[in-house]
Amino acid sequence: MSFRLPASAREITGDGGAVAGVITDTGEVIPADIVVIAVGVVPETGLAQAAGLALDNGILTDASLRTSAPGIFAAGDIANALHPFTGQHHRSEHWSNALNGGKVAARAILGQDAVLSTIPYFYTDQYDVSMEYSGFPALAAGAEPVIRGSLEDKEFIAFWQQDSRVVAGMSVNWPRKPQPGAQKTIKALISARTPVSAERLADSSAGLDQLLPDDA
Ligand SMILES: Cc1cc2nc3c(=O)[nH]c(=O)nc-3n(C[C@H](O)[C@H](O)[C@H](O)COP(=O)(O)OP(=O)(O)OC[C@H]3O[C@@H](n4cnc5c(N)ncnc54)[C@H](O)[C@@H]3O)c2cc1C
Repeated sequence: MSFRLPASAREITGDGGAVAGVITDTGEVIPADIVVIAVGVVPETGLAQAAGLALDNGILTDASLRTSAPGIFAAGDIANALHPFTGQHHRSEHWSNALNGGKVAARAILGQDAVLSTIPYFYTDQYDVSMEYSGFPALAAGAEPVIRGSLEDKEFIAFWQQDSRVVAGMSVNWPRKPQPGAQKTIKALISARTPVSAERLADSSAGLDQLLPDDA
């Protein structure tokens, strides 16, 4: 697999109905038998707009998933919810967000004290690469990842830090046994907000759990 960054597809070439390749905006010709187009998604806010809800990259909510209109709640992909950890709005198009957000919205609808405070998480399996990510992309943006493990062997954890605190971590083909999943530790590290040196994060001779503060 290889990436062309930054580049856009300018033209798909073909002959007699069969695809022959892709020409990028840099003029590069990439031969291809099959072209898969991944164009992304946008939230469908038409109904919310008609209802007069406050919108900004989805439907704006508070941390209990209340929209700007009394009695209307939003959860899942559509909700741009205030996250207590960052104090910023966060919209996540991932399964776990829909799962956790649905429960929080239901409890809030019942008048209970419910807040969506879980650390955002997703998993994805692409052929022989299994990835799990926890954290806040907005906080991790621009940070150089610290790698524990081997990029070459496709078995590693990438940590992103802000002010020496871990704000995101992705485990790639990381063994789940005999230890429990690395994501549990990554989430605990993020929640602890304790500074950790890049050297310690990268040092795989010490167990992941040793990165956690004693009270985590
Ligand atoms: C191809 C694909 C692969 C994915 N892979 C992963 C993955 O590997 N890991 C991961 O974490 N997440 C993945 N996701 C994301 C995950 O599926 C979504 O985050 C999750 O399904 C969102 O749930 P939701 O309930 O918020 O929205 P949805 O599942 O989109 O449900 C919204 C529902 O509302 C209905 N609806 C919309 N408008 C109206 C209306 N006006 N009236 C009535 N009904 C309406 C829709 O028809 C739909 O049934 C993937 C998504 C896709 C599309």
